[in-house]
Amino acid sequence: MSDLDTAPPVHIRGGRQEVSARPVHELLEPRITPLGENTVVRRLLPNLGRRMVGAWCFVDHYGPDDIADEPGMWVPPHPHTGLQTVSWLHEGEVLHRDSVGSLQTINPRELGLMTAGRAIAHAEQSPRAHARLLHGAQLWIALPDAHRNIAPAFAHHSNLPVITSRAGLRGTVILGEVDGAASPGTTYSPLVGADLSLAEGACVRLPLEPDFEYAVLTMSGSCRVDGVPLVPGSMLYLGCGRADLLLEASTESGLLLLGGEPFDERIVMWWNFIGRSGEEIAQARADWNAGRRFGAVHGFDGDPTPAPALPEARLKARGRVR
Ligand code: MN
Repeated sequence: MSDLDTAPPVHIRGGRQEVSARPVHELLEPRITPLGENTVVRRLLPNLGRRMVGAWCFVDHYGPDDIADEPGMWVPPHPHTGLQTVSWLHEGEVLHRDSVGSLQTINPRELGLMTAGRAIAHAEQSPRAHARLLHGAQLWIALPDAHRNIAPAFAHHSNLPVITSRAGLRGTVILGEVDGAASPGTTYSPLVGADLSLAEGACVRLPLEPDFEYAVLTMSGSCRVDGVPLVPGSMLYLGCGRADLLLEASTESGLLLLGGEPFDERIVMWWNFIGRSGEEIAQARADWNAGRRFGAVHGFDGDPTPAPALPEARLKARGRVR
């Protein structure tokens, strides 16, 4: 997925001063954001006052939308640098194409993990024949400096480890490790992502890594996370210093748990690019608009999305900007 905002803001993020060392409850309200012509998403990260959770730096939640008589998702070719993207579905399908030659349909609770590294381009759309409902999340992970210029890659993992040892909880490990189960997905900083399905009446404690900061996104149902009631489309930031997390569901509920070691590096994020300086971002923009560096996405029936104009203020990692 893409940030299709025609005047995207600059985000300068990362650094431990923004991390809560103690457990906290910080409710992040979604920002309703149009995505292309057909879709509206709820943006949880970046959010006012909270830009990252570990290396997770972008969280969009969309649906469930009835697309039975509609084309559904339609995101033309666009570029990325310096990040990984995770496509995660509860309902429907996404057809992914990219400039390293991938063509992959991603189904619910399968991991589509794209590593942009120095440069990649991709397109995402609902397949022509698709399910009635589309419901999912699009997530970005910032790559640390040591790995952000690696070769682009795409991986599809359809058989992720599932935790069933706690009554009322079915957990799918998207990335990292949860309760002794590890995802095969490649990560470049200590982090975790898990899909948590809670049965009606569930009351479970999930073990956490105390050195990680965490947040939970509610995708469906009615539940309490550490005692805080959450409705679908909201995210609760939890801080660090937790050995476990209490999860209670009054109806069947679907959650995403995101966490990681606080990301130490300052990053500059603009449109679909992550870099470390305004010059890098401007170069990536120029390269994309000139057809250099990112490669071509074949087979998509539409034109690539040109990068919008840069903001007039110089992009510089000098503090928190919003
Ligand atoms: Mn994208």
